[in-house]
Amino acid sequence: MRQTIIAGNWKLNGTISDAEILLSALESAFAARPDIQIVVCPPYTTLAFAAQKLAESNAKIGGQDLFWKEKGAYTAQISAPMLKEIGCTYVIVGHSERRGRFGVPEPEFNEAVLAYFGDSDITVNLKLKAALAGGLIPICCVGETLSERQSGSTDSVVSNQTSAALKGVSAEQASGIVFAYEPVWAIGTGEVCAAVEADRVCGIIRQKVGKLYGADTAEKVQIQYGGSVKPDNAADLLGRPNIDGALVGGASLKAADFAAIIAASPR
Ligand code: PEP
Repeated sequence: MRQTIIAGNWKLNGTISDAEILLSALESAFAARPDIQIVVCPPYTTLAFAAQKLAESNAKIGGQDLFWKEKGAYTAQISAPMLKEIGCTYVIVGHSERRGRFGVPEPEFNEAVLAYFGDSDITVNLKLKAALAGGLIPICCVGETLSERQSGSTDSVVSNQTSAALKGVSAEQASGIVFAYEPVWAIGTGEVCAAVEADRVCGIIRQKVGKLYGADTAEKVQIQYGGSVKPDNAADLLGRPNIDGALVGGASLKAADFAAIIAASPR
């Protein structure tokens, strides 16, 4: 049985004083669920504080991104050893806001935007391998845009992103990766993907992992759903066979909401 993993992506939110308030308010919710894995991904500047604050808790810390080089002339970048040293266990890789879709409505999404926030399948793969080499567990995000869904290419987009992310990754490494199916149109929009459909697409990811590495690895890999997960839809999503957890953005910033999502987890 795969363990459920609920992760909160704080994005560009959370000074140290905000984190003190939020994490204090979540203490009992975390303590109540030692059976599931809880992960908190604050901004870089709050990671050290959060790691210290959660040192005695069953929740782990994750970065929101990393660079694939360990060190060098790469201004503003953060490497796997740096995240590891500060207390991270996980790191998000390939979030759609890093894949060039950063706050930009789809008609304006173009090459110029990619140049600023341009994670591609190639850089996602480099980051994922750097995370593994540095002893971090990647939470690898995949998902289609609205126009990709409307044109019927959801399955191929998700499947191709999955295989591209896994290029050069061994079966043993793959079994320890967390995937997050995050349809871009559902992120921060309040428009959740129907649980049946989210489960189906998570199944596509599992199938792809199975094709690449075999049924054993596919059975082991944890797959989250992310995109407008809220207390009122969490139980339905988390109760589905292919959904092993949630990657939560907005609702992870509200203690009562994140606590309710954690509590709603059936296993
Ligand atoms: C996310 O940023 O990964 C996310 C799922 O955001 P939200 O829950 O706000 O849609």
